Amino acid sequence: MIIVLKPDITDKEFEAVVKKVKELGLEPKVLQGEFLKVIACVGEERREGLKETLESLYGVEKVLQVMYPYRLAAKEANPKGTKVKVGDIVIGGEEFVVMAGPCSVENEEQVMKTAEGVKKAGAKILRGGAFKPRTSPYSFQGLGEEGLKLLRKAADKFGMLVITEVLDPRDVEIVSEYSDILQIGTRNAQNFPLLREVGNTRKPVLLKRGMYMTIEEWLLAAEYILAGGNPNVILCERGIRTFETATRNTLDLSAIPVLREKTHLPIVIDPSHATGKRNYVPSMAYAALAAGADGLLIEVHPEPDKALSDGAQSLTLELFSNMMENLKKIAPVVGRKI
Ligand code: PEP
Ligand code: MN
Repeated sequence: MIIVLKPDITDKEFEAVVKKVKELGLEPKVLQGEFLKVIACVGEERREGLKETLESLYGVEKVLQVMYPYRLAAKEANPKGTKVKVGDIVIGGEEFVVMAGPCSVENEEQVMKTAEGVKKAGAKILRGGAFKPRTSPYSFQGLGEEGLKLLRKAADKFGMLVITEVLDPRDVEIVSEYSDILQIGTRNAQNFPLLREVGNTRKPVLLKRGMYMTIEEWLLAAEYILAGGNPNVILCERGIRTFETATRNTLDLSAIPVLREKTHLPIVIDPSHATGKRNYVPSMAYAALAAGADGLLIEVHPEPDKALSDGAQSLTLELFSNMMENLKKIAPVVGRKI
């Protein structure tokens, strides 16, 4: 932590700052430049409120934090990169893992048809919402436990794994019974009781980025899960809110290299919620693979026009299969397997 002092700091103020730094358990090293005097503080600086405390002292211009506020999520905690094992699949390894399925589980025929089609095309994990976070309370809210059962049944029939969203800390247990991966949606990315609850399990958790969250805030949300003792966290970029209205959200693909630098956690891209339009999904999927993502989360529906949610961004089985063929061609070029 670097404390930049005001040019007109008095000796008394300076001494008070040095005293406070020591009291806080940091070792002050004073550096006198031509125009500025700064105090470099050596020691654990990742403490809530520390920066603010120092910044409020008389004679202090500003305080610069050198270390990231997260610890377990930081790259240094596992420089080789975390591989999350789900059944016999590894997310964060050489394989580019595709998770696909409907936005919402609607009925048995729909889930079965989708599972069969996406599996045939090369998806390994079946997605589908049973508890849906809908903007309006009057929209379809999902089938609940019945949806979980259908998802499990379809995945088992076609030799797939399951990912589904958990909305409420009280549902973590029941969703864990049926699902291989717990999905935390964008609207819940800073629901701290929910993050703590999934942190208490050892189930893989796919943590979507809040549509309003900086990468640092996102990693701090991941830190909640890791701090609970659950190391199996997968990050999912699904688009953030910007001024642009041509797409549902703005896909922050540059989050991939940024995250690679800052964290060891695997990265998945959801181009469906990011773009909101099925025509834009394949190109963003190709870009994600090329940019180094570890996998994709894609919405697919046998009849998107009849979907109860997110039909406009859902691929048909045929479009999904075409996209997968192209991904298979790109994968070896960037050193990945599908
Ligand atoms: C979903 O995956 O169906 C979903 C609701 O996603 P998000 O939380 O990104 O909106
Ligand atoms: Mn959806």
